[in-house]
Amino acid sequence: MEFETIISHAGKKMDPAYGAMSMPIYQTSNFVFDDIGKTRAGYDYSRTANPTRKVLEDTLAKLEGGHAGFAFGTGMAAITTAAHLLKTGDHVISGDDIYGGTYRLFQNVMKDHGIEFSFVHMNSSKSIEVAIRPNTKMIWFESPSNPLLNIVDIEMVASVAKKYKILTVMDNTFATPYFLKPLEYGIDMVMHSTTKYLNGHSDVIGGAIITSTEELSKKVQFYLNALGTCAAPFDCWLVTRGIATLAVRMRKHAENAQAVAEFLQQHPTVAKVYYPGLKTHPGHEIAKKQMKGFGGMVSFEIKNGEAAAHNFLRKTQLFALAESLGGVASLAEYPALMSHASMSAEARKQCGISEGLVRLSVGIENSKDLIDDLSQALEGC
Ligand SMILES: *Cc1c(COP(=O)(O)O)cnc(C)c1O
Repeated sequence: MEFETIISHAGKKMDPAYGAMSMPIYQTSNFVFDDIGKTRAGYDYSRTANPTRKVLEDTLAKLEGGHAGFAFGTGMAAITTAAHLLKTGDHVISGDDIYGGTYRLFQNVMKDHGIEFSFVHMNSSKSIEVAIRPNTKMIWFESPSNPLLNIVDIEMVASVAKKYKILTVMDNTFATPYFLKPLEYGIDMVMHSTTKYLNGHSDVIGGAIITSTEELSKKVQFYLNALGTCAAPFDCWLVTRGIATLAVRMRKHAENAQAVAEFLQQHPTVAKVYYPGLKTHPGHEIAKKQMKGFGGMVSFEIKNGEAAAHNFLRKTQLFALAESLGGVASLAEYPALMSHASMSAEARKQCGISEGLVRLSVGIENSKDLIDDLSQALEGC
């Protein structure tokens, strides 16, 4: 079945008791056993597994083309669980331009557990190979990255990793499986903050991991259960409902983002626009090769720096000043003091997050209204 069909039917007609069209929310902590040691359908306790969660997990696995999917309470819970595949003394190569919270977990938490990290700008196989050590066990990256929309050649990363037998994990939050399926390019595990596009309505926090092999599935299920990082049934229900409209939403997000990026690019107040759909973007050709669309995130630099960026952010009407992304309504934020405040000023500078940088999550409103809003807010900045 094609993508749109899978998502519109997720959780539909799965109610064995009454035939409810919409999947029931199994809001239960535990399940009655038929006999000692004999469960009814494999369910005993909702931390381990829950039928509402299972529908979301199976849908995620289908969308990413994986062996199994796992739903977590937050994106960070998914990343924390993935990080537990590592042991003290292991080394990780991470992209340098990653979600601020991921950077904080690696740098300020996992490091204290004896795991080593190298933050690398993954623009060539050489840049990765020089960072490889005998104890390198994982490569972690995003593409497009947050907030600079850098594009990483996924096939290149997978081929280097295979050569050195290193596990690869890609955070696919920005592209979603509608535009990009990392497992098809040889990546071992995909991670999502379902808070963003998968849910799409700014009303739930959640995370996901999709595995490529049975061996990885067993490990992730073990750590999910042992750590207790799983998602609640109601949240899974909300994300499954959000996913039903993922295809139409993503098409509109990308169409609007392209229009916004082209508008900003010709604006005299704007120094630089970061959007992989622009021909001038250094990763445009690779993005075109590996993605079906360029997504809904656009970042740009205001010529006059920090004060001008703040002025702009105070003036937007439709773009709400807020962190997070991927909802139907447009957002604008200032990475240096908001989404990426957990990075040191030095680390931000090194990966290119400047004082004039603004990040937009372009929603699915009418694009003319969005451009009118940006235009009035940029005036005098
Ligand atoms: C938001 C986000 C996360 C973290 O997810 P939460 O749901 O906020 O815990 C991880 N990676 C990316 C790319 C994100 O945007």
